[in-house]
Amino acid sequence: MRLSRRHFLFVAALAGVVGLNGPALAAGEVNLYSARQEALIKPLLDQFTAETGIRVNLVSAKADALLQRLKSEGRNSPADILFTVDAGNLHAAQVAGVLQPVRSAALEATIPEVYRDPQGHWFGLSMRARPILYVKGKVNPAELSTYEALAEPKWKGRICVRSSDNVYNQSMVGSMIATRGEEATEAWAKGFVANFARKPQGGDRDQIKAAVAGQCDIAIANTYYLAQMLESDKADEKAIAGKIGVFWPDQQGRGVHVNISGAGVTTAAPNRDNAVRLLEFLAGENAQQWYAETNQEYPVRSGVTASATLRGFGEFHADSVNMARLGELNATAVRLMDRAGWR
Ligand code: FE
Repeated sequence: MRLSRRHFLFVAALAGVVGLNGPALAAGEVNLYSARQEALIKPLLDQFTAETGIRVNLVSAKADALLQRLKSEGRNSPADILFTVDAGNLHAAQVAGVLQPVRSAALEATIPEVYRDPQGHWFGLSMRARPILYVKGKVNPAELSTYEALAEPKWKGRICVRSSDNVYNQSMVGSMIATRGEEATEAWAKGFVANFARKPQGGDRDQIKAAVAGQCDIAIANTYYLAQMLESDKADEKAIAGKIGVFWPDQQGRGVHVNISGAGVTTAAPNRDNAVRLLEFLAGENAQQWYAETNQEYPVRSGVTASATLRGFGEFHADSVNMARLGELNATAVRLMDRAGWR
């Protein structure tokens, strides 16, 4: 990153000398720490550069590693933006003090309030749902209703879900605490854990595969995993996904649990204005369309349609708890899951 910045300054100086004041050189750069797969974001960044002349230096790594790096770099950090998934991770970054509040009329107008931090430390850029998935033919969707009902004895030995280490599950439990309270959620978690078909293991895709392999009848997973499997070039993945039905829980009540991928401007951001501009670009109509299609996630901007595959899962009513609440309740959720024996 340092090298690239020096390189930029060198080129800019050279351009000045020879009188080439192209917009690309005048506009500068922005440094992005991203926990997203590079292929899922790079083409968008290239488009941003083409439109604005602002070069994007992308550092891709796991969410935890990026947060550690930001913390250790402190105010010498070259990063301008942290881009990661899950409100739990975004909140953790905020609590660690590595994000700064941003006011942007464009972001506030396009991103619904529930999908961004009220103080502007982070903004949701895509939305994902975590519904109940079931094996078609083994479960009649009429038997399903809410997450809460999955604690009933009839589901004993029939549920696959990943470990409580995973932030997706922590946020899901946090959403239940937000509405039902800690005590009721703990009682639920004990019943839910008692219904696990196996010790939690693997990622969301593995829960889907285990269900189709006959290890369980119900899997909890984010929608984009199922959509990506349906769109996969691998015939076996596609076939597995085809055997799974999507059930939207609690549609008369609080709604299906949803989460976001999102980004915030870092506290030390040397290119703060460019960072805000990139966030505004990512919330723009074209970027939202491309990003949602490519990731198989729901756009956060209204008026932008989801992919055909996602639309095939049907419409749903989403839980309206503010994403910030999920972060605030994260530690409570983790302790509760531990007490309930969710490993
Ligand atoms: Fe994921």
